[in-house]
Amino acid sequence: MARVQFDDVTKVFEDTSGPIVAVEELSLEIPDGEFVVFVGPSGCGKSTTLRMLAGLESITDGEIRLDGQPVNDMSPKERDIAMVFQSYALYPHKTVRENMAYGLKLSTDLSDEEVNRRVVEAAEMMGIEDLLDKKPGSLSGGQQQRVATGRAIVREPAVFLFDEPLSNLDAKLRKHMRTELSRIHSELGITTIYVTHDQEEAMTMADRIVILDNGQLQQVGSPKEVYYRPANAFVADFIGSPSMNFFDVDLRVESDGTGTLVGEGISYGVSEEIVDAVGGEGEYTLSIRPENLRVDPTAPPAKTFEATVDVVEIVGSDNFLYLRVGGKECRLRAPVEVEPAEGEVVDVTFDESDLHLFDRNTEEALV
Ligand code: ATP
Repeated sequence: MARVQFDDVTKVFEDTSGPIVAVEELSLEIPDGEFVVFVGPSGCGKSTTLRMLAGLESITDGEIRLDGQPVNDMSPKERDIAMVFQSYALYPHKTVRENMAYGLKLSTDLSDEEVNRRVVEAAEMMGIEDLLDKKPGSLSGGQQQRVATGRAIVREPAVFLFDEPLSNLDAKLRKHMRTELSRIHSELGITTIYVTHDQEEAMTMADRIVILDNGQLQQVGSPKEVYYRPANAFVADFIGSPSMNFFDVDLRVESDGTGTLVGEGISYGVSEEIVDAVGGEGEYTLSIRPENLRVDPTAPPAKTFEATVDVVEIVGSDNFLYLRVGGKECRLRAPVEVEPAEGEVVDVTFDESDLHLFDRNTEEALV
C-alpha cells in the first residue's frame, strides 16, 4: 500500500499545432488506502494524470512521489502499480489463468505454485473460478472486465489505477461492478485511483472526488462536500443529475440590510447574512439544485418566483418538471403527487439555506 503525492505536476504535449497543456500544476495528496475518483469532461487530463503516475507518460514539470519517494525517473515496473484499462487489454490467445499469471511470472521469481495460488485466490474474489481455462474471446464484456481486474489483484500492487474500467458495460452491469469494485477495495485496502467521466460512479464509489477541468484542479472533497459545497460554478454544474439551475442575478441591498436577488425572471429576498457573505451589491450567479426547488403557492411572495411548466417527466420515484423562467429552462424535482398541467404557471420557492451564489466573473463560490 502507498501514499501518492502529486507536487505541482504539469504535462505539456508537443503537437503539430503547438503545445497542449494537458495537466497544469496539479498538487494533490492521496493517503494510503484511499479510494479516489478523478472526474471531469473529456480532455480534462484524467488519463494523462493516471498515465504519468503509472510511468506510461513522462512528466514535464513537478514531481510524483510514492510513499515519499520520487518516481519521475522510475520505470513502470519499478513503481509497483497495477492499471486496469477500459479496453481490458487481455491477451486473446492465452487462457484466463495465463492472462492473470503472465505479469506476475514476468516481474517476480515466485514459484509456479505461488503464482497459481494467487491466481485462484483473485479469481475467487472476482467470482471467475469457472472461467480460468477459457480464452477471453469466449467471455462476455463483464467477465472480461473481471479478468482484467483479477489480473491487477494478483500482482498485490501498492496502488491500483482504473481508467474508465466500466464504460464498455451496459448500465445494469456497470452498477453491479461498481459495488464489486468497492467491495474489493474494502477487502484489500489498496490505494486506488479511478478515472471516470460518470459523476454518478464518482459519487457512489469515492472516498474523495478530484474534479478536473482543462488540466486544472477544480476541487477535491468527499462526495457530500463537492455536492453540497461546490467550490465554483464548474463543479456545481458538473456534479448532480439533473444538473443545477443557474441564473444571472443582481443583488439589491434594502434599507434594512436585507437583500433582493433580481434577474432572469427571479426576484428573491435574502437575509442580511447572505448580503454580508457576498460582500454587498453586485452581479452574481445564483444556483439551486432541482431537488431544492418546490412548487408552493402558499410561500410568501418575496420568496417565490413564477414559472411556466413546459414538460412533466414521470420517472417513477419523482416527477421532473421542466419549467420556463424569464425565457430560461429550469429543472425541478418534485414528489409524484406534484403533477401540474403543461402550460400552467406555478409558484416556485426554495430555502435560502439551499441557495449557492458564485462571483459572476471568477465563478468562485461565495455562499
Ligand atoms: P477522456 O475522458 O476523453 O479520456 P481525459 O480527461 O482522460 O479525456 P486526456 O486523455 O488526459 O483527457 O487528455 C488531456 C489533453 O491532452 C487533451 O487535450 C488531449 O487531446 C491531450 N493529449 C492527450 N494525449 C496526447 C498525446 N499523446 N499527444 C497530444 N495531445 C495529447
